[in-house]
Amino acid sequence: MAENMIGTKCVQAGYTPGNGEPRQIPIIQSTTFKYASSAEMGKLFDLEASGYFYSRLQNPTNDYVAAKIAALEGGSSAMLTSSGQAANFYAVFNIASCGDHVVSSASIYGGTYNLFAVTMKRMGVEFTFVSPDCSEEELAAAFRPNTKAVFGETIANPALTVLDIEKFAKAAHDHGVPLIIDNTFATPINCRPFQWGADIVTHSTTKYMDGHGGALGGCIVDSGKFDWTAHADKFPGLCTPDDSYHGVTYTERFGLEGAFITKCTAQLMRDFGSVQSPQNAYYLNLGLESLHLRVKRHCENAQAIAEFLQKHEKISWVRYCGLPGDDYYEMGQKYLPNGSCGVVSFGVKGGRAAAEEFMGNLKIAAIETHVADARTCCLHPASATHRQMNNEELLAAGVTADLVRLSCGIEDAADLIADLEQALAAI
Ligand SMILES: *Cc1c(COP(=O)(O)O)cnc(C)c1O
Repeated sequence: MAENMIGTKCVQAGYTPGNGEPRQIPIIQSTTFKYASSAEMGKLFDLEASGYFYSRLQNPTNDYVAAKIAALEGGSSAMLTSSGQAANFYAVFNIASCGDHVVSSASIYGGTYNLFAVTMKRMGVEFTFVSPDCSEEELAAAFRPNTKAVFGETIANPALTVLDIEKFAKAAHDHGVPLIIDNTFATPINCRPFQWGADIVTHSTTKYMDGHGGALGGCIVDSGKFDWTAHADKFPGLCTPDDSYHGVTYTERFGLEGAFITKCTAQLMRDFGSVQSPQNAYYLNLGLESLHLRVKRHCENAQAIAEFLQKHEKISWVRYCGLPGDDYYEMGQKYLPNGSCGVVSFGVKGGRAAAEEFMGNLKIAAIETHVADARTCCLHPASATHRQMNNEELLAAGVTADLVRLSCGIEDAADLIADLEQALAAI
C-alpha cells in the first residue's frame, strides 16, 4: 500500500488500537509503571529493553503523539518537550556543548535568539548569526573547526523571511554537521524540511499544531539520515560510549534512525526534565487531527487579508510571502507552494500612534502576545515584545514603530476584513 497522504496521517498516524482498546489515545496520567522483578526494571535502566518506567523519560500518550508528528514530518523518531523553547535547546545542546560553535540564521524567534545569544553562551556554546539571505561564501565563512550544527526557521517569527533550506543544508553538510530547522510556522502541512535536506526539525507545538491556544508544548523530530559516524570526531556524544548510561554507544545500539532522539531522551530529558504532561499531549493530538484543515484556512484568510491591506490607502506596506512582489515571494513559491502561514505583518501610515489607535479599534482581532491559533489576534511589537528598544534599535531588529503583526485565525475572512476596514476607517 502507498504511504498515506498528509491529511490521513494527521487523523490516523501514531496510534492504532487493538481489539477492545480505546479509540481515542488514552491519557496515561501516571508518573510510574509497575514491574514484577528488579531484574526486569534493571534492563530498562540499562536501555537493554524498551518499556516504560518513569514518565520523565517516556510516557505512552506522549509517544503516540510524537510518533504522529514524526510521520507528518517524514522522520524516523521524535520526542515531545514541555515547550518550543525546550525543543530548540535540547536539539542544539544534544550535539553542541561547552567549547562548541553553531551557525544560526539571524532571522529567528526572539526567545530562541535570547536562548542562543545569552543563555547558551553562558553555557559555553558560541553562535554566529548570519543573514538568511547571505551568499554561499558568507555562509561558508561563518563556520569554524568546532562548529557542530546550523540552525534556521522555515518562516521566521516575526520577520516572515523564508529560509533557503537547500542553501543552508548544503553548507551544513559541506562542513560535516546537521541542519536543524524550526518548522513551527510552516508546519509539515506546508513544508517538510527533510525533503530539502534538513536533518533535525523542531516545533513549538503551542502554535498551529495545538492550534487552539490551549496547551504549551514542543517537539523534536530526527530524519534519521545524518551519518554521525562519518563525522565521529565531531559527535563523540553519539559515537563513543556514554559513561552515564553504562557505556552505551548510541549510534551502535540505536542506529542512525534512533541515536539522536534516544540520547536526547536518556541524557537531556533525564537531567533537565522538560517533559510535556500526558494531558497536554492529548490536547495536542486533538489539534493535530484537524491541522491540515485549519492550516489551509489560516492561509486562505491571511492571503485575502494581505491582498486587502495591500490595496488600502492607510497601509504603507505589507509583508506576506504569498503576495507577488514580496521579497520572499519566489522563495515561498519554491518551499511553500501550497501556502505559508496565517501571519501577516504590515505598517499603518502615521507610525506608532496610528498603529496603536488602529489596534484599539479592532473588535474581532484581540491584542495578544500569541500567534497561530484559531482566533485572530494581533500585536504591536514596538509597544509590547520590543518595548525596551528605541526607534534606532527597533530598526536594527527589523521591527519598525508602525509594524502590526496580525495572526489570522480560522473565522470567516469577510468578517475579519470588515473588522480591519472599520478599525482603519476610524483613524
Ligand atoms: C513560539 C515559538 C517558539 C517558542 O515556543 P514556546 O512553545 O513558546 O516555548 C520557538 N520557535 C518559534 C518559531 C516560535 O514561534
